[in-house]
Amino acid sequence: MPLIVEKYGGTSVGTTERIHAVADRVTRAHQAGEDLVVVVSAMAGETNRLLDLARAIDPKADAREIDVLVSTGEQVTIALLTMALHNRQIEARSYTGGQVRILTDNVHGKARILDIDADSVRADIAQRNVVVIAGFQGVDESGNITTLGRGGSDTTAVAMAAALQADECRIYTDVDGVYTADPAIVPEARRLDHITVEEMLELSSLGAKVLQTRSVEFAGKYKVPLRVVSSFEDGPGTLITHEVKDMEQPLIAGIAYNRNEAKLTIRGIPDQPGVASKIFGRISQAHLNVDMIIQNVAQDDTTDLTFTVNRSEYADARKILDSVAVDLGAREVAGDDQLAKISVVGVGMRSHAGIATTMFEAMATEGINIELISTSEIKISIGVADRYVELAVRALHKAFGLEVNTTEESLDSAIAVQAAQTDR
Ligand code: ADP
Ligand code: ASP
Ligand code: MG
Repeated sequence: MPLIVEKYGGTSVGTTERIHAVADRVTRAHQAGEDLVVVVSAMAGETNRLLDLARAIDPKADAREIDVLVSTGEQVTIALLTMALHNRQIEARSYTGGQVRILTDNVHGKARILDIDADSVRADIAQRNVVVIAGFQGVDESGNITTLGRGGSDTTAVAMAAALQADECRIYTDVDGVYTADPAIVPEARRLDHITVEEMLELSSLGAKVLQTRSVEFAGKYKVPLRVVSSFEDGPGTLITHEVKDMEQPLIAGIAYNRNEAKLTIRGIPDQPGVASKIFGRISQAHLNVDMIIQNVAQDDTTDLTFTVNRSEYADARKILDSVAVDLGAREVAGDDQLAKISVVGVGMRSHAGIATTMFEAMATEGINIELISTSEIKISIGVADRYVELAVRALHKAFGLEVNTTEESLDSAIAVQAAQTDR
């Protein structure tokens, strides 16, 4: 019998009616002969509600206690769904992450899964029981409850599928697959039938929250057959594929955006060896992640340097930079915490020129200033003012002709049209 791991996100279990609907879906699959492990998120809004409670008590609340608190959201859902299954005469058992023994490291709030003891789950499945598991949580070696970071239930599901060598992991959510851009801001976005794991990894890490980045990493590492589908309607969804891309596939998979960016600039730094190392050494000592970096060509023996950090780390980074500026004798520090990053992703870029140009021209046509640029083999990212996100993503979606299925040929013509428009 096929073993399927299903995961239902917050909206999909957001009300008792929705939980009944999930129980109906699980019942049908079980009766059709599938063995099922079902991973669930907290009901929609619950994790945020719990985090707000913690902040109201203490904005600097201890990370261990925050995990004790936020892990309760998923515990509510496993019990309710299991009751709904019992109500349909399905044998089902619920487990918290700790009860399964999803062993993680002890980094509260963003713990990584180290090992899964799937024996009791296997024993249940052997008895044709449906196993219902709380997403987003685990335990460390000392038995402390940990959580896996926002969106972490995706990772629980894919990791369970890997541990059980499931035939498929299905992520049920409020959209019917992975789209060429977030359908919430681009109405013309198109569902992809399939996407390579490599592209999905980039889209997720660059902001597409439909799958948590870690879940895609797991899928890639353990070759988990992974599919994103809607919990609201039946359909093929999007399959995350592990094959190498063939020539028929589109050059660009999609566009992602991340609004949680901030930029810092240090001006008038003496242009001499060791300066960058001093600045970024201090930043990394404070465990702050730097993303895009630009250094200007020196003028009058001084130079300017701009880089981006996560918006939540902006204040800390600014403090460090202010003090480094004094040490280095730099002229001034400036910053802006209303930055967003927009990225175009596609494996096909490897062998195709002109993509960056199309991207920059589309921004020029809309009058959007590009503040930073960074590229890799399969993506190009730009930093723009946060207020332009919707406009920029829609303009890029159009410029690359993503509303229709792009082959190499149609992309070439999209690039040509764009170039012709800019020439005019
Ligand atoms: P869940 O609660 O089921 O985990 P999430 O809210 O975490 O759902 O993820 C689904 C959401 O991801 C969608 O509602 C959509 O707005 C957003 N999203 C962002 N980028 C994409 C994309 N490229 N394709 C599909 N959905 C996307
Ligand atoms: N409930 C958690 C969150 O809101 C985990 C998840 O839904 O995947 O981030
Ligand atoms: Mg999610």
